[in-house]
Amino acid sequence: LSVNPQIQTVADAGERALIERIRVRAGQPSRWITTGIGDDAAVMTMNRGEVVVATADSLVEDVHFRRSWTAPRAIGQKAVAVNFSDLAAMGAAPRAVLLSLMLPPDTPLADFDAMVDGVVAECEAHGASLAGGNITSSPRVLAIDVTALGGVHPRRTLTRSGGRPGDELYLTGSIGAAATGLALLEGSVDRGTLADDLADCLRRYEAPIAHVRCGRSVAGNRAANACMDLSDGLADAARQMAQASRTGVVLEGKQLPIHAAARAWSERSGADPVASALIGGEDYELLFAVPAKRRRGFLAAVKRAQVETTRIGSLTADSRMRWVRGDDSFELPGGYAHFG
Ligand SMILES: [Mg+2]
Repeated sequence: LSVNPQIQTVADAGERALIERIRVRAGQPSRWITTGIGDDAAVMTMNRGEVVVATADSLVEDVHFRRSWTAPRAIGQKAVAVNFSDLAAMGAAPRAVLLSLMLPPDTPLADFDAMVDGVVAECEAHGASLAGGNITSSPRVLAIDVTALGGVHPRRTLTRSGGRPGDELYLTGSIGAAATGLALLEGSVDRGTLADDLADCLRRYEAPIAHVRCGRSVAGNRAANACMDLSDGLADAARQMAQASRTGVVLEGKQLPIHAAARAWSERSGADPVASALIGGEDYELLFAVPAKRRRGFLAAVKRAQVETTRIGSLTADSRMRWVRGDDSFELPGGYAHFG
């Protein structure tokens, strides 16, 4: 039942009309989608010699976002971007997206349209097609679940387990901004009065950029031994990569590319900017392990993708997971984990 009879809801429209709205908004699918939205399942052709790389991730209201904080279009966009970030970390090119929406009946139709537009825009930005999915009603919270399918030549695949002791660790972009953006939202910040650098933190939280071109460029040149994206923070990514590669890891606290506004924000709240940046999640940067002899090829590959990278540490032969600052050495903190 709609609270305000003036606002058209998804319940008013009904499932079939909603699917038709998605089909119209998704537009013409790419040539490799031979059967798209509207049939029982989608059919797609892969390029010769490519394997399928598949990943899924969901955003759940009140766990990952608040409808009162974030515009529906941004929610749709982010739901796809976080999946493309995983494809990027594998060196794969996004090809198709399956979208599963769980909608409270009172969801305004305009919000539904905007969310789908966000999904389609992110797909288009990376040359992928929205190829199918599902819609179901949800008693209370809105959830958006995305399955992303990508293609890559099997010998060009990047994994997190290929690292070797002595590999240099490189990180794209900067860290800490997304966590600062979330803190701003939690503090009910007024968007209209935000300074530019803090507005950038908010944007980094709400509209992360998947480094698809960078992941593909490095993978295509076989310029790294391992790669992982930073969904749950740098400390978590470094730990997981080291664990999968059966190495230890050391990060240089002074080298970390901490976003300037995030650093200032931490200092103002009495926190250690490095410690905050290590645990801050959702930056969706890429962490690469690069053997010294591939360093030049790696730097050329990221430059072609027009992405900044910083050398932040190394994988080690001993099994310790640590970060250092001067002569001080600290255990790497754990990352965010669902269910504790
Ligand atoms: Mg990941």
